[in-house]
Amino acid sequence: MSWRIAILAFLGLVLNPMPLVAAEQGNPLNALSEAQKDALAARVAAGVPRKPRVLVIGAVRGFHHESVSDAMTAFAVLGQESGVYDAELRTDFDLINAKGGEKMRFGFTPQGLGDFDALVLVNTTGEWGLSDDAKRALLSFVRDKGKAIIGVHGALDANYSWPDYAAMMGGGFGGHPLNTIDKPILNFPLVNEDEKSPITRHWPTYFSQLNELYVPKGFSRKDTRVLLRINQQKIETGPAGTSDIPIAWTRRYGDGRVFYSSIGHTRQSWRDPDVRKMYLEAIRWGLRLTSHAQDD
Ligand SMILES: [Zn+2]
Repeated sequence: MSWRIAILAFLGLVLNPMPLVAAEQGNPLNALSEAQKDALAARVAAGVPRKPRVLVIGAVRGFHHESVSDAMTAFAVLGQESGVYDAELRTDFDLINAKGGEKMRFGFTPQGLGDFDALVLVNTTGEWGLSDDAKRALLSFVRDKGKAIIGVHGALDANYSWPDYAAMMGGGFGGHPLNTIDKPILNFPLVNEDEKSPITRHWPTYFSQLNELYVPKGFSRKDTRVLLRINQQKIETGPAGTSDIPIAWTRRYGDGRVFYSSIGHTRQSWRDPDVRKMYLEAIRWGLRLTSHAQDD
């Protein structure tokens, strides 16, 4: 091919709009009316039960945990293997808005929280910078729509300028004074306070976890059900004022269900089948597929 022919061929490709137009016109859906599209979508969806949809957010605005990707992967795999839910993984907060809930015809194209049944927050540290509308949408998702929120470790270390967020989660981040510079990871002695809960019944009364665990701030047992706590009798160095250190709890927020655990700092925690089971069962509980004895 001479260079003249090569240039002419190139210009022909660039200037000729036919391939693009042909592709668009070739989409058979374009020939259908809206009613026909509805009917077709209903036929395609027939017999395919809709699973609960879980939005898993691993966006980070503060300290970045190396375990974020491991945790997000775990939540996707847990949904697939259990068949309990379908996970949508995101690394931004864009879907925290009041949109969603509209009919979907061909594929899942989420618009906002209205398209989900539960929200998992994976080490979402720092100030998220949500608009006032987005903040209202998140609180309303749980409180008014009766949906679930599952907070993982750094989800508590977030949104200090938004007190309603901590009020929903059941507390804020009070630091991790038991993990010092020379002991970033400790083998924590733990107490299972609720061996009948579907979320923690796979653990014995006393067990241990290698992790970095938080001391929550503004936490009250009055409106929260503690599942796991640090064993104060066994811990070597208990700083003053930290005699009660819950590390996993459930609570009601309006009509919705909230679960939080500070287990999940390390990559290793996401290879621990017991930790994975706790979070799968927390989602099941959040979706109202299981109950504690004292649930409504
Ligand atoms: Zn951490």
